[in-house]
Order: sequence, then structure tokens, then C-alpha cells
Amino acid sequence: MITTLLQSGYYEQGSSWLSNLTTSEAFFIIIIVAVAGMIVQARLRSVFNKYSNVFLSSGMSGAEVAAKMLRDHNIHDVKITHTSGMLTDHYNPATKTVNLSDAVYSSRSIAAAAVACHECGHAIQHAEGYAPLQLRSALVPIVNFSSSIAQIVIIIGLIMMSISGSSLLCWLGVGMIAMSAIFSIVTLPVEYNASDRALEWLESSRTLRIDEMEGAKTSLRWAARTYLVAALSAIASLLYYITLINRRD
Ligand SMILES: [Zn+2]
Repeated sequence: MITTLLQSGYYEQGSSWLSNLTTSEAFFIIIIVAVAGMIVQARLRSVFNKYSNVFLSSGMSGAEVAAKMLRDHNIHDVKITHTSGMLTDHYNPATKTVNLSDAVYSSRSIAAAAVACHECGHAIQHAEGYAPLQLRSALVPIVNFSSSIAQIVIIIGLIMMSISGSSLLCWLGVGMIAMSAIFSIVTLPVEYNASDRALEWLESSRTLRIDEMEGAKTSLRWAARTYLVAALSAIASLLYYITLINRRD
């Protein structure tokens, strides 16, 4: 659909596809992405349920696999801790902790090993100064601030526009929403790379057998797709706000 919109806009002289995109078309894109998001989430949960019940031949827990991966990468200052919730696993660069959820920390399943190693992948990125991770961390405070006030800025901007005719404040708000979209795009290489590191190590260290690797790959592939959908969703809402202001400009 985006390609069609792109082409239709591209061939018309003096107007871009973006200025031809209507608010209802942008809203339609948001709905499509939201539906795709629900499908991906459902698939991720079912894949995780499946591989959470397939146990490792080595009998190692998520926490044990994580400790081994960090040791193999000569990382000794990162702690592995236990966090509550489901799919709440994350690496915290501020505290240098790999936080593993209930279903991962003590589970001896293929899904647990895959998730634990993915989080260790982030710890290794941090130790190596992996550039996309550094950029992502630098964006966190900016995005937190801008996303919290962006909608208010746009609403005030729309009022100002109806009074003074100036759309400056509206575009400032759109710039703030664009920060969230940029953040979700920068997140993609960080997440895909952490999964690649996890799978490479699981295979090369023979922590998983060849027949166990497929489950780990499938689990991480579906987890990565949730980040892809999140990025598309951020871009879709950015397009929506742009069309909203273009229409009134
Ligand atoms: Zn991750």
C-alpha cells in the first residue's frame, strides 16, 4: 500500500506522496499495523509456550546458560538477577544486570536458553561499545521527555494554528513524535544483533544440540518481529499526525 501511495505521489509534479496521503489513509495504515501486531504477539506467545515445554538435553537453567555465555565472553562484572512477570526479561546497562523473568531464570527449556542468551547479547554489546546500543541509550531520556508532551504540544499547536495561522508549534510536536519513531528504528539493529549473538554462541559453544537450535531460532525470530511491528506502528502514527496537520495547514 505504501508503495502505491509512494508511486501515485511521486509521478505528480510538485507534490510528494506524503502531502497526498489523507488522514483516513494514514488511519487505515495504523489499523493494519495494529492487527499485524496482535497476530505477532499471539504467535510469539504460542511459540514461547511450545518451546518453554521442550527441555534442554544439557539440563541447564536459563540463569546457568546466561552465566556460561557471559563467562565465555570474558564478562565478569555483569550480574544475573531474577525479575517478576512474563516476557519482562531485559538487560539494564545502568546497573549491569541481566534480568531474567520467572519463566526464564530457573526454567530448563529451549525458550529460556534463547531468551537468556539474547539478554546476554545486550550485555556483550554494552561491553564492546556497540554503536547502535550507545545511540539507543542516548535517545532514551530525549524520547521519554518528548513522547510525554508531544500530544499536548500538537493540541496547543492546532489551537494556535486556528488563531494565528502559524503551524510552527504543530510541527514541533510532530518532531517530538518523530523522535519516538527514530528510537524504535534504532532499536531494530540492537535487537536483531543481540539475537544473532545468542544463536551464534548457543551453536558454537554446543550449549544446544543442532536439533534444539531450531526452537531457539523460531523463538527469537518471533520476538524480533514484535520490535519490527513496534517500529512500523511508530512510523504509522507519525504519518497520521503529519496528515492531520497537512490538512489544516
Ligand atoms: Zn533485546
